[in-house]
Amino acid sequence: MLFTEPCRITSAFGVAGWLTVALWLSFGSTAAGRDGAAPLPPDRPETEENRAVPALPLPPAKPDAAQTPPPIAQPKQAKPRQALDPASTGPLPAGTRATALAPISDTLGCRIGEPYDVSRLGRTPVDLSPAARLGVAMLSPLADWLDNAVQPAAKTHLGAAVSGLQVSASYVCRTRNNRPGAKLSEHALGNAIDIGAFRLSSGDAVSVDRDWGGEGNKARFLRAVHAAACARFSTVLGPEADVHHKTHFHLDQGRRGPLATYRICQ
Ligand SMILES: [Zn+2]
Repeated sequence: MLFTEPCRITSAFGVAGWLTVALWLSFGSTAAGRDGAAPLPPDRPETEENRAVPALPLPPAKPDAAQTPPPIAQPKQAKPRQALDPASTGPLPAGTRATALAPISDTLGCRIGEPYDVSRLGRTPVDLSPAARLGVAMLSPLADWLDNAVQPAAKTHLGAAVSGLQVSASYVCRTRNNRPGAKLSEHALGNAIDIGAFRLSSGDAVSVDRDWGGEGNKARFLRAVHAAACARFSTVLGPEADVHHKTHFHLDQGRRGPLATYRICQ
C-alpha cells in the first residue's frame, strides 16, 4: 500500500504536473526575490558585479595604455620624415633646405641616383624659386658659388646680398636643346640648373636676359658670377653661347671628353 499511494499520486497528478510545480517553485523564488526582503541581497551582489564589470574594463583601458608602444612607433615614423627633410645637416652644404626624393629612373634613360628638391642654399640664405630638382653632386658647387662668388660680387657691384634665384629649369627629362635623337641633356641627369635672375635683399633684381648686355653694375655683376661659375662647373653657358641661352645661365656638372675633363665656358 505504501508503494501504491505515491504511484497513484504520480499517475493522478502526472509528470507534467510535477514539472510545473518545480518550475513554479524555482520561478517563484526568483519572483519572491524581487519582492521579498531576503532575495534582495542576492540581487544587489548581481548588480554590483554588473557594475564591477564596467569597472573591470577600466583596467583593460590600462592595457590600451600599455599599447602605447604603437605611439612609440610613431616617432619612428617621424624619423624618416626628418631624414627626408635634411636641413643644414649631413653631407649637404650648410644652410641647405632640401627634400630628399626617391631615385629617379625613366625609361628614356633620364635618371638621378640621389635627387633633392632644393629650396634654399648658401650660408647667406638664397631661396630657389621654384625649388630646383637636382642630384646631390650639384649642391656643393652651387653653394660654394653662391657663398664665395655670387654674394661677394653682389656686395661689390650692387651693395646688396642675393636673396633668391629664379630657377628657369632644373631636372627635365629631355635631350640636349630638345633636339630629337640628340644625347640626353645634363638636365635629364639632375646635373644642371638654369638661372634666369637674381633677387636682391634690396628688393631689386638682376635679369640675365635684360641686364647681361648693359654697361652698368648689374652687367658687371652678371659677368663676374658667370666667370666664377666657370671655375666650379664643367659647363657654363650664357647669352653669348647660343640662341638657346639668351635668357639664362646654364650651369652643369656633365663629364665631357675622353678624360671627362673637357670644360665649356661661354
Ligand atoms: Zn640648361
